[in-house]
Amino acid sequence: MAIVPGEIVELFQRHFRSSGDPVVYRAPGRVNLIGEHTDYNLGYVFPIAIEMACYAAIAPASHGKVRLYSRDLDERYEIQAKEIAGAKPTHSWSDYVIGVAQELTKAGIEIGPADICVASDVPTGSGLSSSAALEIASAVALLGPRSLPKLEIARLGQRAESQFVGVPCGIMDQYASVFGRENAAIQIDCRSLQHEYVPLPDDASIVAVNSMVKHELGSSAYRERVAECQEAVRAIQNFQPGVQSLRDVPLSLFQQIEEHIPDVPRRRARHVISDSQRVLDLAAAARARDLPGMGRLFVASHRSMQDDYEISCDEIDFLVDTAIQIPGVYGARMTGGGFGGCTVNLVAPEARETFERYLCTAYRERYGKGAAFYDCKPAAGAQRVAVDP
Ligand code: ADP
Ligand code: MG
Repeated sequence: MAIVPGEIVELFQRHFRSSGDPVVYRAPGRVNLIGEHTDYNLGYVFPIAIEMACYAAIAPASHGKVRLYSRDLDERYEIQAKEIAGAKPTHSWSDYVIGVAQELTKAGIEIGPADICVASDVPTGSGLSSSAALEIASAVALLGPRSLPKLEIARLGQRAESQFVGVPCGIMDQYASVFGRENAAIQIDCRSLQHEYVPLPDDASIVAVNSMVKHELGSSAYRERVAECQEAVRAIQNFQPGVQSLRDVPLSLFQQIEEHIPDVPRRRARHVISDSQRVLDLAAAARARDLPGMGRLFVASHRSMQDDYEISCDEIDFLVDTAIQIPGVYGARMTGGGFGGCTVNLVAPEARETFERYLCTAYRERYGKGAAFYDCKPAAGAQRVAVDP
């Protein structure tokens, strides 16, 4: 559901009667264009921040608590502000916000009593990172006029998710939500934590297609993949003791030694190393405005996730395989952690309508359910938003 900042102010006032006028912040979700599961292996990723975002309206309060309300779940949560530093996870959505608040206190930012209302139009559990949007919206809202370096904001969001919520995620989602820029993709080096903005050709549409398969099964498999990558690193260390992560392994070295690595870690490593290289290749193709080349990289990345990393599913493979048959579609691949969620498609603008009509019908015929289509324009990162009086 699209969000107008004025509406969230009204919602805020309805829920927290005693509070004054809130200030509203927005933090975007993201679509990763290529480089999947490479972030926690310290490789490259290539996301865009998107217009779908989480909004947080906040006002200081005098009741001693931090009170939260999520429009989307219609759920409330509250905690004494002075208990945040020692809070334990409650295994609910509020962990994303309280985890961030706790990280802020560790960074020396005092969290006083406040009311916070959140509303997001990033679909949850669909690989567009509603979780990072919630974390970063909470972080900038709780910070208010106080400032922290942007990278620190991204990092504390990631720590909140990996340590407090308990999902062993990399830095990509929070980084994209903080550093997003209109009209550009962000090439992030997850080892140096530096980035470059790469302009995208304006004669292609980026369309995310939601399979409506939620990636709930994904979190245990995610842990498994993290462990399998560590296993691959240990196997490679027998040949190159200096290797600390898959980032340290160039594709050429990997190809020389891969036959000595057991099957599963070998395939996991091959995906990570090749997909990280594809980030650099995609950035070069984007700069050269080579849309067919970009499309081929999308498909190669998908095959790698399908066969080597084994994180796709039937519905997603169907969406990719059907999309790439449609004239005007340069390429398609799954985006996000896997096991459902969305595909990302690079489509000629004149084919955009046919693409949706054809793919939607084919998907419904095969799976008896619809798919949702989102046009994804690269958008700005987290910011305060003006509210019309
Ligand atoms: P993804 O980040 O791919 O959307 P995750 O499983 O990482 O999926 O995060 C989804 C979780 O984030 C939800 O289950 C919920 O706990 C939390 N969340 C996201 N947006 C909201 C929201 N608007 N209100 C409450 N919780 C939210
Ligand atoms: Mg997430």
